[in-house]
Amino acid sequence: MAAAVARQFGGARRRLIEELEAKGIGDIAVLKAFDDVPRHHFVPSGVAHRAYEDAPLPIGHGQTISQPSVHARFLSLLRLSGRERVLEIGTGSGFQAALLTRLASAVFSIERIPALAEAARESLRACGIDQVIQRVGDGTMGWPEMAPFDAILVGAASPEIPVPLTEQLALGGQLLVPVGDRSGQALVRVIRTPDGLREERLDPMRFVPLIGAHGFEA
Ligand code: SAH
Repeated sequence: MAAAVARQFGGARRRLIEELEAKGIGDIAVLKAFDDVPRHHFVPSGVAHRAYEDAPLPIGHGQTISQPSVHARFLSLLRLSGRERVLEIGTGSGFQAALLTRLASAVFSIERIPALAEAARESLRACGIDQVIQRVGDGTMGWPEMAPFDAILVGAASPEIPVPLTEQLALGGQLLVPVGDRSGQALVRVIRTPDGLREERLDPMRFVPLIGAHGFEA
């Protein structure tokens, strides 16, 4: 039975990876991470049959697991070498954190909703992934005790670039954050260079709101 389920999802996972390639994701390490991490373990059982569609899915508490091509875009932009310390804001399902363990050396992740953080912990454990260091709290404040980070990914929409996060970037480090209003945002990349912070506006995006001191009000 378990082998049959794995085969069934195995084919779907292959097709998703082909779809990501067709949509312009060419980074082999990123595609391999999608091959390594079973997304069906990170979504509620009621939508598990849709786990390998390139679509966001509900994960409860009004939140969603992002679309695979959006996760792939974030991860491709970072060009991780495997040696980085990475901070994720918005653990959500835990799926992107799981992908990050395949691409970086230390993964820290903050979620504000305790029940989601706990469900993510269980999904990660079910996949045998024990490298994600999780915390419940307001991720807009970052994680100063663990800084600096080579990369910080924000998986929720912010009205502004959260200043504590730029302060916790290592030299050469990158912050990816969707910035805009609740109905639409642009992905912004901030890089800490020897001359200061460099900002770039990239693709249009649509995320659930980042709620916190440097985000939206609840
Ligand atoms: N990348 C995630 C999807 C995240 S959805 C995944 O792979 O599933 C965005 C998440 O950000 C939600 O779970 C939401 O609760 C969380 N969030 C919103 N504001 C936050 C904040 N200030 N700190 C930490 N998490 C926050």
